[in-house]
Amino acid sequence: MTTPSAPAAPLDPQAGEDPLRPLSALIIGAGFGGLGMGLRLIQAGVRDFIVVEAEAGVGGTWRVNTYPGAACDVPSSLYSFSFAQKPDWSHTYARQEEIRLYLEELATRGGLRPHLRLSTRALACAWDEERALWVVDTDDGRRRWARALIAAAGGLSQPAMPQIDGLADFGGPCFHTARWDHQVDLRGKRVGVIGTGASAIQVVPAIIDQVAELSLYQRTPPWILRRRDGPRSPLLNRLRAAVPALMHAERQARWAAAELRVIGFVHEPRLMRVAQRFAEAHLRASVPDPALREKLRPPFTFGCKRVLLSNDWYPALQRPNLRLVDRKVLRVERGAVVSAGADGAEGPEERRPLDVLICATGFVAANAVPGFSVVGRGGQTLAAAWARGPEAWHGTLVHGFPNLFLVVGPNTGLGHSSMVLMIEAQLQLILDALRHLQRHRWIEVKAEAQKAENDDLQRRLSTTVWAGGCGAWYIAADGRNTTLWPGSTARFARQLRALDTAAVSLG
Ligand code: NAP
Repeated sequence: MTTPSAPAAPLDPQAGEDPLRPLSALIIGAGFGGLGMGLRLIQAGVRDFIVVEAEAGVGGTWRVNTYPGAACDVPSSLYSFSFAQKPDWSHTYARQEEIRLYLEELATRGGLRPHLRLSTRALACAWDEERALWVVDTDDGRRRWARALIAAAGGLSQPAMPQIDGLADFGGPCFHTARWDHQVDLRGKRVGVIGTGASAIQVVPAIIDQVAELSLYQRTPPWILRRRDGPRSPLLNRLRAAVPALMHAERQARWAAAELRVIGFVHEPRLMRVAQRFAEAHLRASVPDPALREKLRPPFTFGCKRVLLSNDWYPALQRPNLRLVDRKVLRVERGAVVSAGADGAEGPEERRPLDVLICATGFVAANAVPGFSVVGRGGQTLAAAWARGPEAWHGTLVHGFPNLFLVVGPNTGLGHSSMVLMIEAQLQLILDALRHLQRHRWIEVKAEAQKAENDDLQRRLSTTVWAGGCGAWYIAADGRNTTLWPGSTARFARQLRALDTAAVSLG
């Protein structure tokens, strides 16, 4: 793995605790975003920064999501940093543990360890106007000061439990996929799974062999394409290590192929009908029973919700111990889930006794207000600024919040390629902004620049496949898509290559 050079001098353990000697940057989160930022800072020669992380280790989503079957649905060669590529991924699509280990190794080899403050949760961040510093309180009782605050706490980090009556009274083990309870032995148990999204399609095939019976509660079936996965040849991996140019070329080819998909998602949604035919063919070939097939056919245009990849989801759904319940979950009772009857809401309810209930029900909308309070200029909170829905400039800077930089902020999500590319583009912009902070005390995006960009984003989003009204989680309450980027990763990277000083105020 090519990694940045390690720093020489150790960091003072009390770094940033004296407002007269603030940190250059305080990063929240040690996932791809926060680690990547730290590595880029070290590469740029910055040493006085720390990364606070609530978990006991690095990896972010790839540390937390340990549910059976967890893996990435973006090819590994693209789901890694361009500046720290790994030649020896074991599979085309890496499994969770391998990605976690990649990030652990990066943290060590990149010299990040002295900067990490693990098991430390950010509680409150406030902008001190007089000092032009961010004041960050953490749950270890410390207060730290930093010139720049980099919030990289993850777009999908707050699990969303479903709003179902009686859920708290289930009695038996009941947990979210992102908080998998490994103490619970599923063997021989009657298990309920609510949800059929990206997490569920990985969990269900992974546990179906162990459980006595699995009741799968489906609200909306997803579109699924074949997953062209497999172990990577050790010989080719050695070749990739010996000739890095080969590895880089392979990544470029993957990137270019993914980039083409943006045409269907963004520019010509009608093209999605072609891709939909592939998904329909996959469904037809995998599910011979027409009645079941009908239940599994999504009612929305291909691409409007996230397109999923799986070869084992449809086979799992046809296992004799799986029962697909495609009716509304009415309530949870002690040791059971009650759903609407077979004849719809009018029919008799169905009560299924269960030992374990698993919620594969997704996350609090990506880019929502972070789990810690953020108070900017004039005492305004980020929650108040985003009351109508999240909004930023380049997904990174927010008017009213000087020297605050978001990683995976509003409208940086993708439907067609790797988030690591978006993260790298943001890191580049933040580095450039930090260079300006060597000559200025603060940077703040102008209100008019933020508004103009967001008006343009919403105009562009209005003709994409995501405007299909399919009820996807990335649409805010007011109907705006505040999650996805309507363009290529190349366009995003171009816009973020350098800070446009006309769009910001410098103090
Ligand atoms: P998700 O895609 O939001 O799926 C949640 C599922 O729960 C949906 O099927 C939803 O149905 C259902 N649901 C929610 N509340 C419900 C309720 N009250 N009753 C019945 N069903 C309910 O969540 P996810 O599967 O955790 O995935 C979230 C995101 O994480 C993905 O879009 C992806 O970005 C990421 N992810 C990535 C990978 C990967 O391979 N890289 C793996 C897992 C997750 P509706 O569709 O009707 O709302």
